[in-house]
Amino acid sequence: MFPSIKKINRALEKLDPDRIYVENMRYLLGTSNRIAKLVCDIAVRKGYFKKFYALECKNKHCGRIIGSWENISEIPQKVSCLTCEEDGENEAYFLTRELNIIPFYKYIKKSYKLA
Ligand SMILES: [Zn+2]
Repeated sequence: MFPSIKKINRALEKLDPDRIYVENMRYLLGTSNRIAKLVCDIAVRKGYFKKFYALECKNKHCGRIIGSWENISEIPQKVSCLTCEEDGENEAYFLTRELNIIPFYKYIKKSYKLA
């Protein structure tokens, strides 16, 4: 079942508007991953959310977000993790295709309405 607008708005109050992950949305709505993704994708279509793609550092003890892009096609083929670079890790440069791409959303409008 699709969550009510009230429920979605309540979830949005608890989320970081600059970094909304499907997983957080799913948890707050108490729904399935598929429905949570649908809520986010409808919000994109309606102009409430903007979708971005983040790259996650491959080093196990790091796992930080290396950077984020609006389009998959804008992501360079090689990226470096500044944190790992500063920490003097052996591996700080990665091929993008070796990394996890994590979609996330930014909330760019104040209220979520489907109508
Ligand atoms: Zn790193």
